[in-house]
Amino acid sequence: MYETLFWVIIIIIILDFLFENYLDYLNTKKMGSPLPDELKGIYDEEKYAKQQAYQKENHKFGMITGTFSFLIVLVMFVFFGFAFVDGIAWSLTRHAIVAAMIFFGIIMFASDILALPFSVYDIFVIEEKYGFNKTTPKIFVFDRIKGWLIGAVIGGGMLALIIFIYQKTQNMFWIYAWIAVATFSIFMTMFYSNLIVPLFNKQTPLEEGELRDKIEDFAEKTGFKLDNIFVINGSKRSTKANAYFTGIGAKKRIVLYDTLIEEMETDEIVAVLAHEIGHYKKKHITQGLIISLVQTGVVLFIFSLLIDNPHLSRALGVEEPNFHIGLVAFGILYSPVSFVLGIFMNQLSRKNEYQADAFAAESYDAGALASALKKLSQKNLSNLTPHPLYVFFNYSHPPLFERLMHLKNFEK
Ligand SMILES: [Zn+2]
Repeated sequence: MYETLFWVIIIIIILDFLFENYLDYLNTKKMGSPLPDELKGIYDEEKYAKQQAYQKENHKFGMITGTFSFLIVLVMFVFFGFAFVDGIAWSLTRHAIVAAMIFFGIIMFASDILALPFSVYDIFVIEEKYGFNKTTPKIFVFDRIKGWLIGAVIGGGMLALIIFIYQKTQNMFWIYAWIAVATFSIFMTMFYSNLIVPLFNKQTPLEEGELRDKIEDFAEKTGFKLDNIFVINGSKRSTKANAYFTGIGAKKRIVLYDTLIEEMETDEIVAVLAHEIGHYKKKHITQGLIISLVQTGVVLFIFSLLIDNPHLSRALGVEEPNFHIGLVAFGILYSPVSFVLGIFMNQLSRKNEYQADAFAAESYDAGALASALKKLSQKNLSNLTPHPLYVFFNYSHPPLFERLMHLKNFEK
C-alpha cells in the first residue's frame, strides 16, 4: 500500500511540473501575435519590444527556477530526504511539538536558502535591467529576516497549537483545529494592515489637495469613509504600480500605491479607487474569507481521517507515523484537489474583477478606468496576449483586452 502511495506522490509531482511547463509553452508561443485594435497604441514600438524581451526573460528564468525546485522536491521524495530531516528532529528531542517545529524549521529555512540566489537574480538583475527595481540590498536582507521571524512566530505558533489540539482531542481534532484556524484567519483579515504591513511599508492617509477633494466627493457618494483610504510607499521596492482593497468591517481599507498616484491623472486614480470600492460593495473579501474557511474545514476533516494511517509516513520512508511527516505526504496527495479548487477560485476572482469594474463604470467613469488599466499594463510591462488556457488556469484578473471590451458596454 505505501509503495503505491509513494508512486502516486511521485506521479503527482511530475504531472504538475509537466502541466505547468506546457501552459508556459503555450503562453510563449502566443507572444508576438498581432494586437487587436483596442490594444494598439498602449505601447509604442520601442516599449513593446522591451515588454516582449521582459516577458521572454521572465519565461526563461521561470523555467530554470521551476525545474530546479521540481528536481529538489523529487530528490527529497525519491531519496527519503524527509525521513532524513525527521531523523535529525527526533535526535534532538522526544517532544512531538518541538520535533515538528525543528522539522519544518529545517525544511523551510533550507528551501528559502536554496531559493535565495534566484530571488537575488530576479530582483537585482532582471527587474533592475528593466528599470523596476528600487530594492536596496539592505531592504532585501531585512525583508528576508522579517519574513523568517514572522514565519517562525505565526507559522510555528499555529503548527504548535494544531499539534497540541491533535494530542488532546485525537479524532475530533479537526473541529477544534478548524475553530482555531478560523479564528486566526478572521483576526488576520482584520488586522493584517495594522500588524503585518507596517513591518514592511509605510501607510499614510491621503494628503490634502485636489486628489483628496475629488476622492472625498466620490467616496461620500458611495458611502466609503475617507479615513479608510491609505497611500503605501510601494516605491520603496519597485516602480510597479498597484492598488488593493483589504479587511472587513471597521477594519476595511483601500490601499493605493504611491507609484500609482504619481503616474496617473486624478480621474484615473478615482476610477481605480471606484473599482476597489466595488470590491467592498460586492462583499468580495467576506466572500473569499467564507470560502477559505469552508475549504479549511474540509481539508482538516480529510486530514483527520488519514493522519493516523501508517502508510502515509511509510511512503516517505518513516516507520513510526508522526504528525509532521503525515502532513507532508497529505500535502502532496491533496494538491490535485487544491489544483482544481484553484481553478474555481481564479474563475470566481475574475468574475469579481468584472463586477468591480462594472461598479466603477456605473458609479464613476468607464473611460477613466479603461485608461487607467491601459496605463497600468504599460507601466508594469504586462503581457497583452496571454494564451486563453494559461489565463483559465493562472489568472486571478481577466486579461486587459477582455476588461476593456467589458468596459465598452458601459461607455456613454
Ligand atoms: Zn480588483
